[in-house]
Amino acid sequence: MDWKLPREGSCRCGQVRIRISAAPLVTMACHCIGCQKMSSSAFSLSAAIPADGFEVISGEPVVGGLHGATKHMFCPHCMSWMFTRPEGMDWFVNVRATMLDGAADFAPFIETWTAEKLPFAGTGAPHSYETLPPMDAYDGLMKEYAEWAGRA
Ligand SMILES: [Zn+2]
Ligand SMILES: [Zn+2]
Repeated sequence: MDWKLPREGSCRCGQVRIRISAAPLVTMACHCIGCQKMSSSAFSLSAAIPADGFEVISGEPVVGGLHGATKHMFCPHCMSWMFTRPEGMDWFVNVRATMLDGAADFAPFIETWTAEKLPFAGTGAPHSYETLPPMDAYDGLMKEYAEWAGRA
């Protein structure tokens, strides 16, 4: 995969622009009910980007979603859900893959929370988890993802 880095992205209205300068550690689809509601769709799509490879280059995203320890960041104007800073895991940012230019490159490698999946929703992800992968699975998943994405 040529990630064409740095790569930019934006919300629906274009007020908030983001840039990634690092390849995803892993890509995900999440079927949880929270993601269904926040994405107004069947699942959310994420690319986990190392925190030092992510920046907001214009606009001022605001906290939305649950307003808890995990920060769900939205455009203040069009309210697109753009990225999430997960609680206690500040080394990466979960960027909503559809905000990025060329979103087709960010096919999900794992899907999570299939226990809450809508029956008609399919993602094509090669790994499925009823909830989340066990913490000790992530190292292997990230290595496998690099190879999988490299073949794409
Ligand atoms: Zn916007
Ligand atoms: Zn979710």
